Amino acid sequence: MIVTAGALSTDEVAERLGRVRERIAAAGGADRVAVLAVTKGFGAEAVRAAVGAGLPDVGENYAQELAAKAEEVAADRPGPRWHFIGRLQRNKVKLVAPHVAVWQSVDRLAVGEEIARRAHEATVFVQVAVTDEAGKGGCPPAEVPVLVGGLGRLGLDVRGLMAVGATGPAEEARPGFRRLRRLADDLGLAEVSMGMSGDLEVAVEEGSTMVRIGTALFGPRPVRRRM
Ligand SMILES: *Cc1c(COP(=O)(O)O)cnc(C)c1O
Repeated sequence: MIVTAGALSTDEVAERLGRVRERIAAAGGADRVAVLAVTKGFGAEAVRAAVGAGLPDVGENYAQELAAKAEEVAADRPGPRWHFIGRLQRNKVKLVAPHVAVWQSVDRLAVGEEIARRAHEATVFVQVAVTDEAGKGGCPPAEVPVLVGGLGRLGLDVRGLMAVGATGPAEEARPGFRRLRRLADDLGLAEVSMGMSGDLEVAVEEGSTMVRIGTALFGPRPVRRRM
């Protein structure tokens, strides 16, 4: 595997993580906000650097890419805890089910049914479409209570809600983040996964419990490779 860009040594990632943690603290989230390392676009060495830097929770967007990296690091101790954070197709659930610990992008019952079939009592988040932008995925906010109820009846452990903030200046993401937090509170869900490298402060201010960070830890992503 050839990887040419990014900060991929444990030391570099640890240093960048320090800066991310300072940003979180400055936004009022010290001790409350977990960091998920998003390794999409990078190879297994990024996963190892994250784990080495103290970030065992690692997120991937694409099923094949997750499966390939999971196999590469399968013998590592300690290894990562994989979170699936991308568009989830029902027919890809089988491929990643042996690896995934947390399914963050469940946005419809059919996918939940497939997860429940392959991974009993799995931990899931419901992805919510908090902006009107197409292509970001997520369940319409009005349908979230019914979906959360349905996933629970499948035996899945619904831990929280997840969203991708509006594109553009970070401040643009605030109304959506606020909406996500309120929805989670209404449903009694503890976890809210929101905030990325560019908008983490706004997300933390609005009550995020987990930010998903790629670029700020690893640098710009190389052009996506098919794995
Ligand atoms: C890529 C991605 C991230 C990380 O984005 P950065 O801007 O690189 O921090 C977080 N969440 C999701 C859903 C992503 O696709």
